[in-house]
Amino acid sequence: MSSAENCASRVLVVEDEPSIRDSIVYALESEGFTVDWTASGREALAKAAAMTYQLVVLDVGLPDMNGFDVCRVLRENSQVPVIFLTARASEVDRVVGLELGADDYVTKPFSPRELSARVRANIRRAQLAGGSPRAEGQAQSKSGAPFQIDHERWVIQYFDVSLSLSRYEFRLLAVLVEKPGRVYSRAQLMDAAWEEPDASMERTVDSHIKSLRSKLKSVRADLDPIQTHRGIGYSMKEDW
Ligand code: CA
Repeated sequence: MSSAENCASRVLVVEDEPSIRDSIVYALESEGFTVDWTASGREALAKAAAMTYQLVVLDVGLPDMNGFDVCRVLRENSQVPVIFLTARASEVDRVVGLELGADDYVTKPFSPRELSARVRANIRRAQLAGGSPRAEGQAQSKSGAPFQIDHERWVIQYFDVSLSLSRYEFRLLAVLVEKPGRVYSRAQLMDAAWEEPDASMERTVDSHIKSLRSKLKSVRADLDPIQTHRGIGYSMKEDW
């Protein structure tokens, strides 16, 4: 993406440490992004309610609220991509726990250039996901599968029930649903659903699959449409 294309993208930076904030704002502006910033969680929520942002960079340790709570409130009305800035391993664990719907995280200290690259990648991914329906995206058409995917609203319906999914769960399930019967390895699912695939995190695919299964069970306890292929990965049931 050229800096000319970045111009259309407005990013909100929420960070209370001036030196870190200044370096992020400088790096993003140099790449052509329009940047607003604040040091406060409450002000971040007010700004996000008043203005459409293509991405939010959110520090976990803010003076008035923690970044997790900011993200939770943000998610009530918005699917804007969020990149967390974390200072400690324990924070990374919570971000990777992923019930928050964060898209990515960066651990301090980081290079502003690295963060800019992540910002670009996350905005591009969100634009692709929210764009026109993918050629292969109509799951309903195949084998009468009971899923309906709305990429624009980030909603998947299962037997006409809208599932409450984190962004990662949405992406994982969408990938499986769109190619019923195709077996995906954990690494392929990581590539499909995560911004920065990392082989050491493949077990998080398992924990998300587990959580997806229980959500699908809550709609239809008698069915278990995600199939496990021992030593390989997962697939979606093909015939309904
Ligand atoms: Ca901080």
